[in-house]
Amino acid sequence: MGPKRARIVPIIERLAGEHQDATIALRFRNELELLVSVMLSAQTTDVNVNRVTPVLFRKYRRPEDYLAAPPEELENDIRPTGFFRQKARAIRGTMKMLIEEFDGQVPRRVEDLVRLPGVGRKTANVVAAELGEPQGIVVDTHVRRLSQRLGLTKHEDPAKIERDLMRLVPRADWGRFPHLLIWHGRRVCLARRPRCENCVINDLCPSSRV
Ligand code: SF4
Repeated sequence: MGPKRARIVPIIERLAGEHQDATIALRFRNELELLVSVMLSAQTTDVNVNRVTPVLFRKYRRPEDYLAAPPEELENDIRPTGFFRQKARAIRGTMKMLIEEFDGQVPRRVEDLVRLPGVGRKTANVVAAELGEPQGIVVDTHVRRLSQRLGLTKHEDPAKIERDLMRLVPRADWGRFPHLLIWHGRRVCLARRPRCENCVINDLCPSSRV
C-alpha cells in the first residue's frame, strides 16, 4: 500500500469513473432553494426532503414569504422532515438575516454562511460547493467512514477529518470528492458489510478484505 499522497489521485479518478452520477440528491432550482433543502436534510434522508420541497418551494419563493406565514404554518409544511419546530425556527431566523444583512441573497462565503441561524459548517460547505465555490470538504457519516477505512485520516472529529482531507485532496476536487465517497459508501463500502470484492479501489485500500 503506497502513502496516502500517492493514492489519493488514483482513488478519486477510479471512483469518478465508477460513480459518474455522483451528485447531490437534493432537488432545488436556485440558491435559496438549495440553502433551505440542505437545512431540511439534517437528521433525515434526501428522499424525505425531496418529498416536501416541491410544494414548499411553490409556496415560499422569497425570504419574505417564509416570514409572512405564521410560524405554525411553516412547521406544518416541513413536518415530514423531522425536528420541524427547530428547523422552522432556523429557517425563519436565516431568512431574517438574509434580508437584513445580505440583501435577500444567499452568501457564497463559508464564513458568512455559518453566521446564519442553524447553519453549521457542514451545511455551509454543501451550499458553497453546490454554488461552485467549495471552500472546504463536506464530512458526513459516509465521508468519515470511508476516509478512515482508506487510511486518509485517523480522526473521529469531523473538523479534524476535514482538515486532513483538505491537506490531501487537490483543491479542484474538493466539491466532487465527498459525493464520490458518499455514493461509494452507499453502493459498495457499506457500513456493516463492505463489498471489497466488488470495489474498484481495493488495491488502494488498507482495509480491503480481498
Ligand atoms: S476495499 Fe473494502 S473497505 Fe476499502 S473502500 Fe473498498 S469496500 Fe471499502
